[in-house]
Formats: sequence, structure tokens, C-alpha cells
Amino acid sequence: MSLKDNKKRVFEEVDQAIQNSGRPSSSVQIIAVTKYVEPQIAKELVSAGVQHIGENRVDKFLEKYNFLKDEGVTWHLIGSLQSRKVKDVINFVDYFHALDSVKLAREIQKRAEKTIKCFLQVNISQEVTKHGFAIEEIEAALEEIAELDKVEIVGLMTMAPLSATDQELHELFAEANRLREKLANQGRQHMPFTELSMGMSGDFPIAIAHGSTFVRIGSAFFD
Ligand SMILES: *Cc1c(COP(=O)(O)O)cnc(C)c1O
Repeated sequence: MSLKDNKKRVFEEVDQAIQNSGRPSSSVQIIAVTKYVEPQIAKELVSAGVQHIGENRVDKFLEKYNFLKDEGVTWHLIGSLQSRKVKDVINFVDYFHALDSVKLAREIQKRAEKTIKCFLQVNISQEVTKHGFAIEEIEAALEEIAELDKVEIVGLMTMAPLSATDQELHELFAEANRLREKLANQGRQHMPFTELSMGMSGDFPIAIAHGSTFVRIGSAFFD
């Protein structure tokens, strides 16, 4: 299939999942994760109507950003970020999806020249290999992040284990949404917790059923 056909198919499948879940039609943003392809291919996706580009590594992010910065794209850094690299990239980022320590939040505060919309990454499945806060660490971290006015916590990001069954995915994504709602109700300044970054090529319909507002889709565009 051509890239254009794939793009059309992904957008249709996301629309279908939104409809199946009874949610409003523009309630989910599609981030095309372009880490597998050259900047030119990312540009073709943008020409086909993709508005959100995501990269998981700083070097690849900057490569795409420099190639496409005049295209009006919204830029997502979706992978873990080392503190020492924050200064190289943070001011080009619209949404950072992998805030996983208070130390990193402090570095963002120090280097950012604007407010950075961040997702707190949470390790719901408690996998040892996964980045992110454990659920019980979150509230103490938020107390500290509350002082950092350039770090806006728009919501939670989570990743499911590759091995998860559909039932486990339902439980995990439902749990993430409950947690998001609880944190939203706490009403902290610059922490609206309205957004949920969850769902990838293999599991986005289930994530959308549980309230995802940003799906991060890579391979389905390029298969
Ligand atoms: C690669 C990547 C994705 C996209 O995964 P696909 O399975 O290719 O859709 C989403 N999120 C993160 C953090 C990634 O690194």
C-alpha cells in the first residue's frame, strides 16, 4: 500500500474507534511517529494531512524539526529525555510525553523559554523495564512540580507491555483514565490533567475506548 493509502486507513480506523466509543468526532489527535523513516517521508505525511509529528529520540526529533519547521506541524517528543539534553531540544517541543522524574522537570523549568505542555509518564503495568512514575509516587512528585511554572502537566502518558492481552489492555487503559480523572479533580495550578497519551499501532482502538486523547501511531503508517 502507498503511504497515502496507509494514512487514510489509519485515520479511518481511529474515526471508527472514536465512533464505537461514543465520543465526539474530534476528541482524539493522531500523532504520526516518524522514527522509522526519513524526513522526506514525514513531509509526505504532512502533505497528506498529518498535523502532529512524534519522535522518541532527541537527534531524530531535531532532524525532522529542522526539515519541517515551516510546515505548521505540532511537535511531540514522546521518548525518555536525559536531563543533559533538555537544553538542545525543549524549546522546539510543543508536547513532551515522557516526564518521568522531578529532576527532569526542574531542568525543563531552567531551560524553557515558554510553557512546555508535559505528560507525566506513569508505569501502570509496574513493568521493571518501563520508564515512568509508579502510581504511588505521583502525588509527592506533583507537590514538587507545582512550583515549576513552565511545566504544565496536561495529562498522563502510559505504554502497555507488548505481551498484554486485550483484557489486560482494557484494564490498564481504564486504570490510567481513572487516575487521570482523580488528578484532574484535585485541581492543581497548571496541571489540568485533561489529556491521555496512550495507544500505539497495536492497541489504539482499546486506548480510545478508555478516553485516550492522543494516540502515538508509527508502524501502521509504514507497513
Ligand atoms: C515507537 C513509539 C510509538 C509508536 O509505536 P508503533 O507500534 O510503531 O505504532 C509510540 N510511542 C513511543 C514512545 C514510541 O517510542
